[in-house]
Parts: sequence; structure tokens; C-alpha cells
Amino acid sequence: MGNKIIITGGCGYIGSHTVVELLENNFEVLVLDDLSNSTEKTLERIEKITGVKPQFIQVDLKDASKTNAIFSKHKDAKAVIHFAAHKAVGESVNNPLKYYKNNLYSLLNVLSAQTENGIDNFIFSSSATVYGTPKILPITEKNETQRPFSAYGNTKKIAEEILEDLINSSDSFAAISLRYFNPIGAHDSGFIGELPSGIPNNLMPYITQTAVGVREKLMVYGTDYPTKDGTPVRDYIHVVDLAKAHVIAVKRLINKKQDEAFEIFNLGTGSGFSVLEVINSFEAVSGIQLKYEVTARRPGDVPQLFASTALAKEKLGWSAEKSLDEMISSSWKWEQNLRALENSKL
Ligand code: NAD
Repeated sequence: MGNKIIITGGCGYIGSHTVVELLENNFEVLVLDDLSNSTEKTLERIEKITGVKPQFIQVDLKDASKTNAIFSKHKDAKAVIHFAAHKAVGESVNNPLKYYKNNLYSLLNVLSAQTENGIDNFIFSSSATVYGTPKILPITEKNETQRPFSAYGNTKKIAEEILEDLINSSDSFAAISLRYFNPIGAHDSGFIGELPSGIPNNLMPYITQTAVGVREKLMVYGTDYPTKDGTPVRDYIHVVDLAKAHVIAVKRLINKKQDEAFEIFNLGTGSGFSVLEVINSFEAVSGIQLKYEVTARRPGDVPQLFASTALAKEKLGWSAEKSLDEMISSSWKWEQNLRALENSKL
């Protein structure tokens, strides 16, 4: 077929939605994942949606020789989309070495393996966390980056610096770093979504788990921020919109449409919603009254983050289409479906 894409972390939340969009755009997909934060069942669920079960190899990308052996058998791949990483911010503060080892060894091994095997295109899952506490809103890609509060965030900043150095050293290697704002939502089918292990770090799974009774109550960390209602404001983006941006970015790389060998794009909607606004929308969409408690601010939380989406619109021709209500209703459908899926063969 000649359009194979290697997806690391493809059984995870954002990776699985991107695999669906790639398959629906007739790409051939090879998923590499160690299943440390996901399940192999995701592949069958992807097949349910698309009619295609992606090729899969279970591998820990921290293992350089195994990673290289795989890439040497898939030299025909046109690009790599690198999702594989640990992502729990709080855990990374308490156990930074786990995060530096996993996120940076994996990155270095993938970059070494792909460049040694002549695969020159790379897409990186970065994060708005690299902007730290922004001085200017909305955040453009020209905003200065700051050392992130957490080791997790710092792995994203360091990774972008590694990519810059690699690109400066090469005539052929090209990369796009996509800085995600706050991905939420799930596929409309209800077959794939976010699978948080333990107590969720992010608001949406915390809300849906509280609504089904897995968590006793939702904690709201701080109501004294300088925002519209005192709670932090974030730019929530539907995971399917996010996944679609990856397909556009991968085509841009393969077709050599880049303006520069290293490009960076914000992926958000450009609109900020507060924690209380999300809670109110969830209650309206689900008809469920959420039990929540206001508590002290959480270290590292910044008051407001929302993206300027102008560059992604201009260069990628991409902008997010789905509303906050669609994000919430699909997350809610996924949470309710998850238990049924776990009890079925899927
Ligand atoms: P996820 O945990 O659902 O998916 C990551 C996948 O990578 C998992 O399937 C996990 O098993 C796999 N993985 C982890 N370490 C691995 C290793 N050493 N070898 C092989 N596989 C490994 O996370 P996600 O939410 O889908 O995030 C995907 C990427 O996007 C990550 O790089 C994350 O840091 C980044 N990101 C996520 C968010 C968010 O809010 N979800 C925001 C910004 C950036």
C-alpha cells in the first residue's frame, strides 16, 4: 500500500482515536504499545468501528534493541506518531525518574531507530504545559516556553529541544510538535475513550467517575483564581478533533508541505471554560446532580490556559468543530458503556 504509519502508544486514549481516523483515511497502521496504561482489547474495539484490526506489536520502547529490531522490519513506514509516554502529572512530581526514564528513553530509542532505518517524518505529542504560566492570552506558538512545574511537563519541553537539535543536524529529518490543550470526549461509537487508572488527574474522568459512583465526590481545587468565577479556565478540545489534526499533520509531512523542518502547532478550540462551567454543563447534559467539594488550590495549577488557534487554521487548514456539550455527552456515553464493554468479550 505504501502509506504505513507507526503509532507508538496507539492503544491509549488519543492514540486509539488517531488510529481510527488514519484507518478511515486509508492509511496502514502499525501500533506499538507496552499496554502499561491501556488494553489490547482497544484493537478489537477499533476493528468494530473501522472494520480493520490494526497490526500490533507489544513492546516497551525503553528497550532500545527491541525497538530497533521492529523499525528495521518496517523501514517502509512513512512516518511515526509518538504518543507513548506516562502522563500522570502528580505521580511525576513524586517519582520524576520514572517519567524521565520512560518518556525520554522511549523518545530517544524511537528517534534513533527511525533515523537509522531511514524513516524521516515524526509527529510528537506535546502539551500546553510547556507554556508554564502564560503572560499573554490567548497563547500563540510564539509565547515563550517556561520550565514546567512537573517532571512530566518537563519531559515535553526537553523532548522539543531534542527534536530541534536533531533537525539542525539532519538534511532529511522533519517533525511536527502538536501542543495539546485539554483533550476530553470520546468516540461517538462509545467503543473507545479515556481509560484512567487510579484517581484521575483530569477533570472530565473525575466528573464521570463521580457521576457513576466510582468516586464519592468531585474535588474543586481553588475558587479564588483571577478568572470569571474563581475556578481555573482551560481550553477543552474533543479528542476526535485532535485525532483529525494528526491525520492532516502526517499528510503535510509525507507530502513535504512544511514551511520549516520543525513546526509547532497549538491544538485547542480557542475558548476557555471554567471548572464550574464544565460541571454545570455536565449536569445539564446528563441530568445528574454532581456531588462536589471546594478545597485548596493544587500546586502547579495555573489560572487560565487557552490557545490561539490561528496558526493551525492557517497552515494546517484545521480547526476544532465539536462543542463542549458534544465533548461532555461523548465522555458520559463512554463512561456508561465502559462497564458493559468490560463485562462483554470486547
Ligand atoms: P495514554 O496513557 O492513554 O496513552 C499512552 C500510551 O502509551 C498507553 O497506551 C501506554 O500503554 C503507552 N506507553 C507508555 N509508555 C510506553 C512505553 N515505554 N513503551 C510502549 N508504550 C508505552 O495517554 P494519552 O492521553 O493518550 O496521551 C498520549 C500522549 O499525549 C502522551 O504523550 C501524553 O503525554 C500526551 N498528552 C496528553 C494529554 C491528555 O490530557 N491526555 C495532554 C497533553 C499531551
